Amino acid sequence: MEFSQGLISAAYIVAALLFIFSLSGLSKQQTAETGNWYGIVGMAIALIATIADPRVDNVWIIFVTMVIGALIGLRLAKQVEMTQMPELVAILHSFVGLAAVLVGYNSYFEMDHSPLATLTDSQQMATNIHLVEVFLGVFIGAVTFTGSVVAFGKLRGIINSAALMLPHRHKLNLAAGVVSLLLMISFVEQGGGNSLLYIMTIIALVFGWHLVASIGGADMPVVVSMLNSYSGWAAAAAGFMLSNDLLIVTGALVGSSGAILSYIMCKAMNRSFISVIAGGFGTDVVIDNDTDYGEHVETNAAAVADMLKNAKSVIITPGYGMAVAQAQYPVYELTQALKGHGVDVRFAIHPVAGRLPGHMNVLLAEAKVPYDIVLGMEEINDDFPETDVVLVIGANDTVNPAAAEDPSSPIAGMPVLEVWHAKNVVVFKRSMNMGYAGVQNPLFFKDNTQMLFGDAKDSVEEIFKAL
Ligand code: NDP
Repeated sequence: MEFSQGLISAAYIVAALLFIFSLSGLSKQQTAETGNWYGIVGMAIALIATIADPRVDNVWIIFVTMVIGALIGLRLAKQVEMTQMPELVAILHSFVGLAAVLVGYNSYFEMDHSPLATLTDSQQMATNIHLVEVFLGVFIGAVTFTGSVVAFGKLRGIINSAALMLPHRHKLNLAAGVVSLLLMISFVEQGGGNSLLYIMTIIALVFGWHLVASIGGADMPVVVSMLNSYSGWAAAAAGFMLSNDLLIVTGALVGSSGAILSYIMCKAMNRSFISVIAGGFGTDVVIDNDTDYGEHVETNAAAVADMLKNAKSVIITPGYGMAVAQAQYPVYELTQALKGHGVDVRFAIHPVAGRLPGHMNVLLAEAKVPYDIVLGMEEINDDFPETDVVLVIGANDTVNPAAAEDPSSPIAGMPVLEVWHAKNVVVFKRSMNMGYAGVQNPLFFKDNTQMLFGDAKDSVEEIFKAL
């Protein structure tokens, strides 16, 4: 089956519109499922229209590859735990980057390499534009590829999540940028050049690696959304090289929405956008975990149940540990039980809680917690002083007072949920281990804090039984 060019363009426009509806749907929990469907239908239309293009030969190779890819994708998506989602997203971004590099090389080797002098002015102009597309596409793709591989490693815990602080690291980044620019000028002036392309690819691969390696733990959410943005620009660059309008539009949508998300997350974390995308520029901090904060106090499920029964207002601040323990279901039951006792229960969600933007919202929605009691940090942060009990369930960095009180802390300046202002705080975790950013949490040693050790799901279930 082959489509005419007009039909393909029409299908591309419909697909592009569906992608825009999809993004708009995904911006609210209530409409997220519909948003996903728009995306699925848009992608199906895009694939069919692309394969049915008369310029596409060897359709069977595409089908075989798609079946293999779909089987791997299905298997991975079924196996992956919610807590491994960010890793999956990071590795998928690396594939987009790698694809852009391959498309770039393919497009370069396929192009007409006649000497520039033998071409007409308009042919020279077209060649120059194509060479810039190839160079930029390979550069962005290579940076996205290795950057995403490092992000994957950091999220999976196989690469140290602390920032890599090489001496003169900003100068190294700058040098990589400047040398790549000079190589591009020479590449275009000479009408190409294999070795120039190879050297730039190696520089870009190392640059991407270093850029993400030098960003520390708590800034990782911004890195993930920034790589999302880079992968979009890499796809757009591939779209230019392949003269595929839909890929350009889709890439630009992903690129710009990723950039907007990174900006919003930077604002939420009080970080400079430029500093984070420039590989942690200006974040020369030293992690000092030797301070003696005193002793912590332990409690047990029965005592927490008693405390909750006597409370009028309770705020639950979930974090990554709730996702690991899959404690959202018993947390929902506990919420219902407390409401039954006339207790006002609400949830406080930090923008970077968990390992994925919106991670906690997704988990709570999955457990059917009503949206109206799930509040964002800015909406609820002033209410802690009037709150009787705060249950910190598997959160750590996002409730760390050091962010507000210790200017030398690596998380200094990041707005956090100020739970310590409440009358009582109970922290659910398994040990005194640190959170993702690798920083000690003085909250655990405050007079109004008690530690409830154990798996969060087991602890919540025990409290529920005791109630
Ligand atoms: P943290 O990652 O700071 O801490 C999670 C806590 O959960 C740990 O202290 C751990 O302590 C505890 N925990 C783990 N498993 C269990 C379990 N089974 N039962 C009970 N507790 C458990 O969590 P936050 O959500 O507060 O902070 C998120 C961090 O991740 C921030 O630093 C953020 O910047 C970063 N990040 C966020 C991303 C995002 O997009 N949201 C992406 C990448 C990173 P213990 O081991 O003692 O049990």
